[in-house]
Amino acid sequence: MMRLPAFKYLAPHSVAETVLMLSSEGPGATVVAGGTDLYPNMKRRHQVPKTVVSLRRVADLRGTHAGADGSLRIGASTTLMALERDARLKAERPALWAAVRSISTPVLRTMGTIGGNVLLDTRCNYYDQNLEWRRAINNCLKCEGDTCWTAPGSDRCWAVNSSDSVPVLIALGARARLSSPRGHREVPVESLYRDDGISYLTKDHDEVLTELVLPPVGPWKSHYGKLRRRGTFDFPVLGVATALRFDGDRVAEARIVLNGVGSSPLRCTEAEGFLLGKRIDPETAKAAGEIAFRPAKPLDNTDFENAWRKKMVKVYVRDGLLAAK
Ligand SMILES: Cc1cc2nc3c(=O)[nH]c(=O)nc-3n(C[C@H](O)[C@H](O)[C@H](O)COP(=O)(O)OP(=O)(O)OC[C@H]3O[C@@H](n4cnc5c(N)ncnc54)[C@H](O)[C@@H]3O)c2cc1C
Ligand code: SF4
Repeated sequence: MMRLPAFKYLAPHSVAETVLMLSSEGPGATVVAGGTDLYPNMKRRHQVPKTVVSLRRVADLRGTHAGADGSLRIGASTTLMALERDARLKAERPALWAAVRSISTPVLRTMGTIGGNVLLDTRCNYYDQNLEWRRAINNCLKCEGDTCWTAPGSDRCWAVNSSDSVPVLIALGARARLSSPRGHREVPVESLYRDDGISYLTKDHDEVLTELVLPPVGPWKSHYGKLRRRGTFDFPVLGVATALRFDGDRVAEARIVLNGVGSSPLRCTEAEGFLLGKRIDPETAKAAGEIAFRPAKPLDNTDFENAWRKKMVKVYVRDGLLAAK
């Protein structure tokens, strides 16, 4: 039986109270929303925060608000199940709805939040193990060790970003609102991530994600495809979000974003540029998939054989473009 370590639990009622607690408790404090990622990590001693500041009583962080212009604001503590049950989200942003619905299981989606998904820890087969297992291999760079077992010659961690909602949020042009004792800021979701399996977020320790702001959908069409071993529930070993805006039957703007193949979500800018001015037909989609394949660098630290996962980028990008058109 894995048990939680001892910790101090704080339950503020407002965002202002939350950021004050975080800053006065210092870097040993962390936020918990649904706890479906943080608590298992604490049980495995990946993270051992002295203080856990829970968002459960902060009502302002829950719920969605549709703007008159077609924009959508999603509170960070909105549960994945609430989004899955949101008929408007399903109708207007089916790719985001499908990504949310593919996350873990109904029980976990009832607890888990969109904010927790956006800020999910990076994953690796050598890290997502209990303490005894990790000690048997002398740990690794991400947790008290001095070797990366995925790439032993490397001085960095290659644990992967596996958050299903993230590639879609980026493809849809979403922005993240953050609060801290220094005030508020709003940044593109894309800029929240760093290509480093250990220091994978750009946000400060005392910053709380309050909201995700999605622009009006307008004429954008989008799709999310997820490769995983079990269709019932599993993390993505490759996720592909595609979003297209057309001028007539030609592509005016394209966004292709991958997860599961790097420590941060990967934007396929070369493939996006290739699509401009073209019709989406099977040949063009296939050619774009071949371009998107090049920067994807899956390593041997998640499920399936990494060379095969890389090949699947071609297939998922091609199919995603044809599905989004
Ligand atoms: C069996 C299992 C299967 C899973 N399958 C998937 C899957 O298929 N796809 C997938 O994407 N995920 C999966 N997950 C991971 C997880 O359940 C989800 O990502 C979930 O959305 C996390 O949300 P949470 O609210 O529970 O996060 P928490 O565990 O509460 O928090 C996660 C991280 O985010 C931080 N955080 C949370 N909210 C905020 C905030 N507002 N401001 C600042 N920091 C914050 C926490 O400090 C923590 O570091 C799975 C988990 C399990 C246990
Ligand atoms: S990529 Fe390397 S350092 Fe990072 S978690 Fe895996 S084994 Fe550890």
